[in-house]
Amino acid sequence: MDYAEGVFYQNTIKIVEEAANVINCDPNVLERIKYPRRAIIVSVPVRMDDYRVKVFTGYRVQHSSTLGPFKGGIRYHQDVDLSEVAALAALMTFKCSLLSLPLGGAKGGVKVDPTKLSRTEKQNLTRRFTSEIGPFIGPSKDIPAPDVGTDPQTMAWLMDTYSQEQGYAQPSVVTGKPIEIGGSHGRMGSTGLGVIFTAEKALEKLGQKLSGATFSIQGFGNVGQHAALYGFQRGAKILAVSDVSGGIYSAAGLDIPDVIRYVSEHKVVKGYPKAEPISNEDLLTLKCDVLAPCALDGVIHDGNVDKLQTRVVVEGANGPCTATASRRLAERDILNVPDILANGGGVIVSYFEWVQSLAYFFWDEEQVNTKMKQIITNAFDRVWEMKTEKKVDMRTAAMATAVKRLEKAMLLRGLYPR
Ligand code: NAD
Repeated sequence: MDYAEGVFYQNTIKIVEEAANVINCDPNVLERIKYPRRAIIVSVPVRMDDYRVKVFTGYRVQHSSTLGPFKGGIRYHQDVDLSEVAALAALMTFKCSLLSLPLGGAKGGVKVDPTKLSRTEKQNLTRRFTSEIGPFIGPSKDIPAPDVGTDPQTMAWLMDTYSQEQGYAQPSVVTGKPIEIGGSHGRMGSTGLGVIFTAEKALEKLGQKLSGATFSIQGFGNVGQHAALYGFQRGAKILAVSDVSGGIYSAAGLDIPDVIRYVSEHKVVKGYPKAEPISNEDLLTLKCDVLAPCALDGVIHDGNVDKLQTRVVVEGANGPCTATASRRLAERDILNVPDILANGGGVIVSYFEWVQSLAYFFWDEEQVNTKMKQIITNAFDRVWEMKTEKKVDMRTAAMATAVKRLEKAMLLRGLYPR
């Protein structure tokens, strides 16, 4: 598959083109940012528990390093393909640009269902994948992080493999590591906390407070779980949450710490006794103030966008709304906080983790969260300014703000060779 073949990639480029048009972007810059700089495809042979060897396909796509070293997560999922990884890599470039970070954009992935791997198999896969992409990553080249299907333990194996091959400890090669080996306080919950900070800003624009606002959250992994928890702790009423097993609903609001306890024991939300079951589709169309899709891309589409009954959509996941659904949300006056802004808390704290790892000097959680809030809310304000000035929706405004910074940097650096 060519990277430009997938709908997600095409949607992403469509949004970039619209945004470039809004700011009269230099056509040569636009031409360059539509393509990833480099795409690496590797075979990952893994010794399975039954001693057979199975080969998985892995990808690392590096979209742009105009603003700094490449940065982006690694996804383990059965639907991973080159085009999806390329779309996610491009989104990382624009996210880092929008958030004023000195980083470029990349993404990686392995086509595998991680739930079918034992711990040893997952470790073997991670170590060989790291070794295969080893020549292309590094603390000042490309710094991976977790994404769907990977976690701090996966990042610890990545850090260890890279360090063993280099001959000395290199904690700054990866972010999202456990604290004990150079991770940052606040990194685990940072994306979910950023979702809540941006939801609060969006509600404020509609004259409503976060406390008392009703939420419906799809996905109860790292992002969804932390968004639900931080929302709950700040007085929001979390009506429903879901995961791949289905959803749970309570009109009175879910007791999120209790749901988290249940999930840590039972793995999924299904069967939680103090709520009613709800399907993932019905969760999306629930009447609420904030809908936060925090699972996979493309879940809000032409087929369900008109049934949504929310005031705000805050995109915890990457690409949860298709391009046409996103336009329809704007027509319906539903405020849509786009992914590159709403889920930026993770990469902001990843940036802090990288800086701390390079400096071997560590901050406490309060410092991390305060600095993250400042960066993400400033970005929200810049997007709002662009939205007001250009009279466009938030997604276009966010992308236009991102493209503008990238355009300046690209023109300053110029083209090598001329
Ligand atoms: P995760 O693997 O921890 O959780 C994913 C959740 O989605 C799980 O609860 C899973 O059961 C659920 N899910 C999977 N398929 C589903 C389906 N068909 N319907 C409903 N739920 C389903 O992943 P994560 O790290 O929470 O990432 C979620 C999204 O957020 C992804 O789009 C990711 O790219 C994005 N994101 C993550 C981070 C981060 O720091 N982890 C940062 C930025 C963006």
